[in-house]
Amino acid sequence: MEKICPKCGALSSSKKFIGEFCEDCYFKTIEIPLPSRIELPVCKFCGKVKLKKWEEMGSEVIGLLVRKYAGKGYDSFHIQKLSDDVYEASFNIKKDSNYFQIKKKFSIQKINSVCEECYKKKSGYYEAIVQIRGKRAGVFSSRILREIRRRTFVSRCVESKEGVDLYVGSKKAVAEALAHLNLKPKISDKLFGVKDGRRIYRRTYCVIT
Ligand SMILES: [Zn+2]
Ligand SMILES: [Zn+2]
Repeated sequence: MEKICPKCGALSSSKKFIGEFCEDCYFKTIEIPLPSRIELPVCKFCGKVKLKKWEEMGSEVIGLLVRKYAGKGYDSFHIQKLSDDVYEASFNIKKDSNYFQIKKKFSIQKINSVCEECYKKKSGYYEAIVQIRGKRAGVFSSRILREIRRRTFVSRCVESKEGVDLYVGSKKAVAEALAHLNLKPKISDKLFGVKDGRRIYRRTYCVIT
């Protein structure tokens, strides 16, 4: 049976149809709202980029950005890098037994930013203090420092007669690092202040070597 395109009035005897529409009108109904310029915050200190949260810039980041903006009007896509910050995404679309592809060029506009972690580090922030005491405090502190730095930042490192104190950005990172080294610290919490009606504690981990 002859079809008539409801948009332009073309007849199916003279033109290819996809569903109810002629090929051209069908094409126009597909929306891929990928902007031609995507802004990407980049930390100027550590190079991490912000998607939902701050993460390392890897090859998958560009794909995640495309997925975030391109909507749902396609079945799959692949990305080609054209030059430094310019890419082309090819979207594959299947409708009935027709396959076609829409290509869109876009550029990544890097926005100079500071990530939360670097912001805290620069402002001398710390959540935990690791006190390393005992005869072998020197040796242990360098091992502990290395493990902690794999996970977070250390704002300050103070050596004294009693041993070594490390001021560390994350409690969780300290707990993980000490567990990794099989060290069993004595833990104490100290009220540090109140923020948004919640009490904030700083945790001290005392390691006797
Ligand atoms: Zn039409
Ligand atoms: Zn950073």
